[in-house]
Amino acid sequence: MENKYQTIIIGGGVAGMTAALYLKRAGHKVAIIEKEAPGGQITRTSSIENYPGILKIDGPELALTMYEQMTALEVPFLFQEVVNLNLENDSIFVSTKNNQFECENLILALGRNPKRLEIENEQKLSGKGISWCAVCDGPLYKNKEVAVIGGGRSAIEETIYLSKMCSKVTLIHRREEFRAEKSLTDELRAISNIDLKIPNQVSKFIEKDGYLDRLLLEDGSELKVSGCFEFIGQEPSTKICENLGILDSDGYIEVNKDYQTKYPNIYAGGDCIKKDLYQIVTACADGAMMAEQILKKSSK
Ligand code: NAP
Repeated sequence: MENKYQTIIIGGGVAGMTAALYLKRAGHKVAIIEKEAPGGQITRTSSIENYPGILKIDGPELALTMYEQMTALEVPFLFQEVVNLNLENDSIFVSTKNNQFECENLILALGRNPKRLEIENEQKLSGKGISWCAVCDGPLYKNKEVAVIGGGRSAIEETIYLSKMCSKVTLIHRREEFRAEKSLTDELRAISNIDLKIPNQVSKFIEKDGYLDRLLLEDGSELKVSGCFEFIGQEPSTKICENLGILDSDGYIEVNKDYQTKYPNIYAGGDCIKKDLYQIVTACADGAMMAEQILKKSSK
C-alpha cells in the first residue's frame, strides 16, 4: 500500500522536521503531514538570535532552510489536514480529508497556536486590524501607529521588530513586570518610538467602517491605532487527539521521559507537551530524541 509508512509525523514545525531528518537519514520510511506552511510557529517569528551557529535569522528563512533539507532528503511533505486518528492492533490509521495513511509509529509534533483575548469585536476584526503575526502583517502598518498586547518574550521581540517599520508602537501589558529577560526589555525601553502602557489592559476593540479604529483600555482611555498585535501566550494545537485520552487538563499531550504517550507507538514532542523551556533548540532536541526512540525500537 503506497500510503503506508514506518512513521508518520503530524506537524511540520521544527520538532517534526528534526524527527524526520534523523529518521530519514537512518533509512526509515517516514512522511510529514502538515496543514499549513512548513516551520510552524517560527514562520510567525520575526527574528531569531538564540539558535546556535546562526547569529540572526528571520523565522520564515529558517523554516524555508529546514524545508529545503526535507526536500533534499526526499521526505514526503504532505500538505493536508488530519481529521481523524484510529488505532487498530499495532497499526495507526491517519485520515485526512481525502486520504488515509497507515503507520507503525506516530509522532505528534502539533505545536501551539496563539491565544486570543476573547473580548468584544476580536473575532469580527481578526485580519481587519487585529493580528497574531508581526512578521506576516507588520508591513501593512508601515509608518502607522500600532499597539502590541502582552509581556512575554514574543510581545517584547515583536514590539521591537514593529518599531522599525511603524511610526509608533504602544505596548500594553497587564503587569509592571515583563516575563522576557532583562537584556531584551532594556533594549525595548531604549527605543524612542515605543510607548509603554503598563499596567493596563484592552477591554474592547472599537471598529470604524469594518476595520479596527481604536482600543478601549481598562482605565477608561481610548487609543487610536491602525493595527493591534496580540502576543498573550500560546495554547497546544491538540484537538485531533482529544479522543485518545492522552491530554492533560490544559490540553497538552502527556508523555514519559522517552516522549511516549500511553500508547507505545505514539510519541509526542515539541511545544505540544509540557516542559520548562519552549525554544527552537528544545523542540529540535525533542524531535531528535523521538526519532532515536523509534530507531532503537525498530532495531530490536
Ligand atoms: P508567555 O511567555 O506565556 O507570555 C504571555 C504574556 O501575555 C504574559 O506576559 C502574560 O501576562 C500576558 N497575558 C496572558 N494572558 C493575558 C490576557 N488574557 N490579557 C492580557 N495579557 C495576558 O508567551 P510568549 O511570549 O508567547 O512565549 C511563549 C514561550 O515561547 C515562552 O517560553 C518564551 O520564552 C518562548 N519564546 C521564545 C522565543 C525565542 O527563544 N526566540 C521567542 C518567543 C517566545 P502575565 O505576565 O501577567 O502572565
